[in-house]
Amino acid sequence: MNDRKAHAVDRFRDGCGVFGVYGAGSAAELVYFGLYALQHRGQESAGIVSSDGECVRGHKGLGLVSDVLTADVLAGLPGSLAIGHNRYSTTGRTTLENAQPLLVNYRGGKLAVAHNGNLVNARVLREKMEARGSIFQTTMDTEIVAHLIAHSRARSIEGKLKDALSRVRGAFALVMMTEDRLMGACDPRGFRPLCLGKLDKGWCLASETCGLDIIGAKYVRPVEAGEVVVIGKDGVRSSKALKSTGKAHCIFELIYFSRPDSTVFGESVDKVRRSLGRTLAEESPARADIVMAVPDSSNSAALGFAEGSGLPFELGLIRNHYVGRTFIDPVQRVRDQAVKVKFNPVRDILKGKRVVVVDDSIVRGTTSRKLIRLIRKAGAREVHFRVGSPPIVGSCFYGIDTPSRARLIASSHSVSEIAKFLGVDTLAYLSLEGLKSCVTKPDDYCYACFGECYPEPVGENGGKLVLEGNCR
Ligand code: SF4
Repeated sequence: MNDRKAHAVDRFRDGCGVFGVYGAGSAAELVYFGLYALQHRGQESAGIVSSDGECVRGHKGLGLVSDVLTADVLAGLPGSLAIGHNRYSTTGRTTLENAQPLLVNYRGGKLAVAHNGNLVNARVLREKMEARGSIFQTTMDTEIVAHLIAHSRARSIEGKLKDALSRVRGAFALVMMTEDRLMGACDPRGFRPLCLGKLDKGWCLASETCGLDIIGAKYVRPVEAGEVVVIGKDGVRSSKALKSTGKAHCIFELIYFSRPDSTVFGESVDKVRRSLGRTLAEESPARADIVMAVPDSSNSAALGFAEGSGLPFELGLIRNHYVGRTFIDPVQRVRDQAVKVKFNPVRDILKGKRVVVVDDSIVRGTTSRKLIRLIRKAGAREVHFRVGSPPIVGSCFYGIDTPSRARLIASSHSVSEIAKFLGVDTLAYLSLEGLKSCVTKPDDYCYACFGECYPEPVGENGGKLVLEGNCR
């Protein structure tokens, strides 16, 4: 991540969205819609690879799905098998060659790979492969997976996948294809989500179920931690190819990344977020007149807080949905304007009111501080900030773009110091116990960025691990 980008990050950013379709008329068109629904997971680049059984073609570019994948492009991607990818880079630069899906030729034919996640042993593997003569075309860790599959001596595609994926460590939800098969795989911890859907005459794989809904596919189930699925003319074959040592689904998918209309890791995202808000209201009530959200990701949690507290929910902030890439990585002059460009307070609602503002998380605190100034300027008498997750004190190494630990405000400031910095009357975070009480299987999640243990060893320095995995 370059410095400008790191500086601009005041939100955790997801790595990518992946989508695949097998056995449906114009698969590339369905993948287009799937990627459109998953646009929130990555806005830097988009791409689709399709196969008509003989010829495999691809197109990718920098920008949003609707900009990159035009009608003309889709017309040039025929066939009933296709995969696609939206990218927000967590490793590798934002360049066209780093856009996905990655399409390679190897002795077994064609292979296309789309990856959501981050491989923590990528550098060591890459150095070893380069020392043996492998030539890499990109700086993405995803290319390592393609090389490992190509180098495998196993006969079946399942065998090749098992060989390759048992050598990589970290987080991956992969959607891949050959000329005639669609494949999906999740890492042994199941960090990033992937689900299986059924079409009338085919199958699909998606990061989130909102991608299935848009094309009328039926949600079948999540792809499990360590599972590999291969979909071909004989149907869906599934194997627990990778030994799971305990699940560690990313809890932030439920707190913030995924759309509330999705089911992720078998949980309804909206239901979990409402429960976070209700629990927060029980743990940290506030004497106030109204509850409002920092839209859109906090809407469900704020509704839950309103339900739990009995206070009315109001739309005190309106978000401009047409803010494009310029404001995701802005120049300094624009960055100072970015909060105002994105959010505008509703003065008639806020004037003279004691307001509970619910947000899903605080990363650096700079955006929250600007928002609170806007809310106060609009006439709010008191501001009580409530956060639907515990304080973030550690960086993520599993496919989520986070600032360094030093930039995370809660890593070096107490709650009262943060309240002072933000300029709020009171500040409260959801407790870790409260968070865990809102999901069906709390032991199946990763909470590492809240100061809990890191489930997998993280980072490398000259081939040495920076931090051992320190849980379970
Ligand atoms: S460290 Fe945090 S953001 Fe990263 S996978 Fe774990 S819960 Fe998710």
